[in-house]
Amino acid sequence: SLLPTLDNARTRELDKKHVLHSWSAQNAINPPPVTEASGVRMTVDGTSYIDFTSQLVNVNIGYQHPKLVAAIQEQAGRLMTVSPAMANDMRSEAARVIAEVAPDGMNMVFFTNGGAEANENAIRMARLHTGRHKVLAAYRSYHGATHGAITLTGEPRRFGSEPGIPGVVHFFGPYLYRSPFHATTEAEEGDRALQHLREVMVAEGTDKIAAIILETIVGTNGILMPPDGYLRGVRELCDEFGILLIADEVMAGFARTGEWFAINHWDVVPDLISFAKGVNSGYVPLGGVILSDAVAGSFMDTAYPGGLTYSGHPLACASAVASVSIMKEEGIVEHARDLGERVIGPKLRELAQAHRSVGEVRGIGVFWALELVTDPDARTPLTADQMNQVAAACKGAGMWPFIAGNRVHIVPPCVITEEEFAEGVRALEDGLAVADGFVAG
Ligand code: PLP
Repeated sequence: SLLPTLDNARTRELDKKHVLHSWSAQNAINPPPVTEASGVRMTVDGTSYIDFTSQLVNVNIGYQHPKLVAAIQEQAGRLMTVSPAMANDMRSEAARVIAEVAPDGMNMVFFTNGGAEANENAIRMARLHTGRHKVLAAYRSYHGATHGAITLTGEPRRFGSEPGIPGVVHFFGPYLYRSPFHATTEAEEGDRALQHLREVMVAEGTDKIAAIILETIVGTNGILMPPDGYLRGVRELCDEFGILLIADEVMAGFARTGEWFAINHWDVVPDLISFAKGVNSGYVPLGGVILSDAVAGSFMDTAYPGGLTYSGHPLACASAVASVSIMKEEGIVEHARDLGERVIGPKLRELAQAHRSVGEVRGIGVFWALELVTDPDARTPLTADQMNQVAAACKGAGMWPFIAGNRVHIVPPCVITEEEFAEGVRALEDGLAVADGFVAG
């Protein structure tokens, strides 16, 4: 084999010396080697864990799905690469199956290597289609780390890239637990958020705004469920002012919420959908934009001024074709929905009753967050150091948790069984016991 066998010590040594890791001071981190993974379990530094992270919430289908691995191997033997200017069978088929699970009237796909590039191209399309310049994006959002996408991003990770691209304006989306609108019910929060958005649109010049981009359900920044009526209201504002709606479904799409796209839960049809992650569970890098027929129409007789050497890469597209087919065959979308309704939601709400540190439980499908607080009335977040101790307790009991701010996100592979979930929850309870110890009084 051309591939050498490295033990974990050698992996760590070369990693330290040669690999620059994202979002980190290199001297502050010590990334643990992952050597194998299967289903919902991964081996980290020699120990097996049940994975409640799906890496970066992308391994929806689970690790090393034998049929997906076989399809990738098969395509590797057929054709490894071809330029985007050629047509390719697997690219054609991937676009067809993605359009098929997308809302009606969305039939064309532009392929990218991941989510950030998908959002870059989505806003480019919106600007060209409308002839307008500004883009509205939410605070408490993450849209990727390329220059435009990080400018769209509404959380502190954008600070290191400021001033960013021109024309991006942020607004507040609904988040009842820490309401920017002093609301007391979901309905009130949704209404006030829409009123605020309308005011931002008017103040920015409704005829200057090309698009509003939002995560259908905010992911990394807290699994924030939009109140019923909010997304419909956003769609109506967009229609009133000729603004395009871009749904960032990079994290929420492809089974994660128990639908092919989270926006289906609210029967709202956007103009553009960006996707990545779950489309092929990250087995090969892939993302893209799904265009409405109207937006695609803008690029029929006028050139689309954008491209990527690996746009529609055959290996990535073959893995998407196989992945969607496995999701259908195994009913993974339905499983995610059922598990969320019947098992995960009830169990997490039960934990919230039993543990004083759990301030709120939010989510749907296999996409949940527990917000941990030291004072349930003041809703004081646990500190980073306290969250590290919570994480350590979970790991000590055999579960790898997803920690974001003061939250534990419950985002295992969507194929997780009830038994595996129960096993992970037992470890989570060790973490919550530690969190309870930080609650005052
Ligand atoms: N959009 C959302 C909602 C995401 O969660 C992410 C990644 O976490 C991205 C975009 C960026 O995707 P990528 O890291 O593939 O560029």
